[in-house]
Amino acid sequence: MTAAQVLPSKRIAGIAGDGDGWELYRRSRAMVADGLPVIELTIGEHDIPTDPRILDAMHAAARGGHVGYPAIPGTDALRAEVASRVAARTGVPTTPENVLITPGGQAGLFAAHMAACEPGDVALHIDPYYATYPGTLRAVGARPIAIPTRSSQGFQPQARDIEAHVAGASSLLINTPNNPTGGVYSRETLNGIADVVRSNLLWLISDEVYDTQVWDGAHISPRSLPEMAERTLVVGSLSKSHAMTGSRIGWVVGPAEVIAPMIDLSTNTTYGVPGFVQDAALFALQQGTGFEDEIAAPFRRRRDLAVEILGNRPGLRLLPTSAAMYVMLDIRQTGLTGIQLADRLLDDHQIAVMPGESFGPSGAGHIRVALTIDDARLAEALDVIARLAREIALGS
Ligand code: PMP
Repeated sequence: MTAAQVLPSKRIAGIAGDGDGWELYRRSRAMVADGLPVIELTIGEHDIPTDPRILDAMHAAARGGHVGYPAIPGTDALRAEVASRVAARTGVPTTPENVLITPGGQAGLFAAHMAACEPGDVALHIDPYYATYPGTLRAVGARPIAIPTRSSQGFQPQARDIEAHVAGASSLLINTPNNPTGGVYSRETLNGIADVVRSNLLWLISDEVYDTQVWDGAHISPRSLPEMAERTLVVGSLSKSHAMTGSRIGWVVGPAEVIAPMIDLSTNTTYGVPGFVQDAALFALQQGTGFEDEIAAPFRRRRDLAVEILGNRPGLRLLPTSAAMYVMLDIRQTGLTGIQLADRLLDDHQIAVMPGESFGPSGAGHIRVALTIDDARLAEALDVIARLAREIALGS
């Protein structure tokens, strides 16, 4: 047998592309493993575990016998709950047949693009972007193309920039509320996107996993815009809204004719989500918006803290942040790249933040700070970041 015969497929070997830009994250994890006291502000994981009441519901479901092969599209009860939640939040009539339960939003993103793209099709997404996007698009055999956005416009995608890249594209992936920017797309932005999607007969894949974490303005689901329900696949998840990142549960909502073959995809890939996890998710959703607000509250409070601490500091600019678990800082006044400043913060101050470059070229010269540690330590870290940016920018 020659070596060539045992190589993995090009498709799988190429998923990560030319490196994923997450070197700093891995370096910080290695430092933590070596026992160094790193302040970790890299990934979007709550600083609280899943609520014990949800875990009790999971335990009771498992002990009650819901441990066999699960209902692959999702249990009837959970699909119905997600459908009524989405209908209530968007005003768009939604039935269980519009819902596929998936092992997290990530699997939903993959399934949605499998539904939207033929092999070799161009799949558009917005830059800066959540780290897995290009890899997910490559994994389905599509060709990812990133649409640039501008810091000066709050990274809101502009219709003409999408138009400029639309030739040969089958789908456009958007994310509002946004990771990494902490922004929420305005109605004007979404109308512009919807126009391009309708006139070019694209699928719109709308990643809405942060839809319960909005501080200013309102989340608008593009599925609610005119003639968009039939060409939009919405990806949702309980990871962020209910602090259930490890339970791996989310959904895709879309036209029933597309959800049906997506169930075949699940049958032949994941075989569904464990029944006891689905029951816990149902219990979690039934706790209502008060519970979701409790989970979201620390991030809103810490956003306010970031505005207070970073609002007027020389050397950096805090982007308007209205949602999610992050703030984005424009640090171009320092003359450093996001990577260089993040390296300095990690090496000299044991503070780990994500360089904007990790999220695509449009994020260059920025850093993303995850608001995922207690307020006091976050305040200290933000102050150190501001002092370092000032020192580099002003030389004092
Ligand atoms: N989309 C975005 C924008 C995210 O930030 C994440 C997780 N960080 C996901 C999707 C995937 O989330 P999950 O698979 O945990 O639902």
